[in-house]
Amino acid sequence: TPDEDEVEVVDNDQFYDVKASPKIQKSKHIGKLARHPPTPIPKELSSLPHMSKYWAQRYRLFSRYDEGVRLDPESWYSVTPEKIAEHIAERCRCDLIVDGFCGVGGNAIQFAFSCERVIAIDIDPAKIELARHNARVYGVEDRIEFIVGNFFQVLPTLKPDVVFLSPPWGGPEYLGQEVFDLQLMGGMMDGYTVFKTAKQV
Ligand code: ADP
Repeated sequence: TPDEDEVEVVDNDQFYDVKASPKIQKSKHIGKLARHPPTPIPKELSSLPHMSKYWAQRYRLFSRYDEGVRLDPESWYSVTPEKIAEHIAERCRCDLIVDGFCGVGGNAIQFAFSCERVIAIDIDPAKIELARHNARVYGVEDRIEFIVGNFFQVLPTLKPDVVFLSPPWGGPEYLGQEVFDLQLMGGMMDGYTVFKTAKQV
């Protein structure tokens, strides 16, 4: 530290010609992002409760939504957002993965990017059709084997490295329950049986 007596007080202004420095003027056109008016909710979706919230999040659910992704009413509420599905897929990286309740394919599509082979099961043929279509949008249709069937019957016939489970949990009514009972899963199925079935293989 220099001796205090030696410290020279410097007037910074002597180095700059303050008056001559060009004024930074904010142009009216710089800094404004081009904004498109929000796309209104399609008629066929507008009657669904809380839909405006889910519609606003459509790219969060599927970043390629505009390229033709299809969801049925139930899936708007239950599909795993893409970033989360991607993260899960990274953690589940393996040779053969089974998605036991694939729905419209949000998870299965991401598994197709991280796993060698994917088997996607759903009991509802309409869901499998949507999942297959959405996988096509993401260019991974041929990396996923789709099976219409009951998880409890199909899974024991397979030899996967990882079983991914996102079973029906009874819808958003669980929010009103004080305790979420895994044995009841919103009255849909017994969560322990789902787990036991997966553990067998
Ligand atoms: P979540 O959002 O928790 O995954 P969903 O209500 O979307 O719950 O249900 C997941 C999927 O599970 C649905 O597509 C449904 O058709 C499917 N499903 C229900 N029962 C069975 C079953 N026994 N085997 C395979 N799929 C099933």
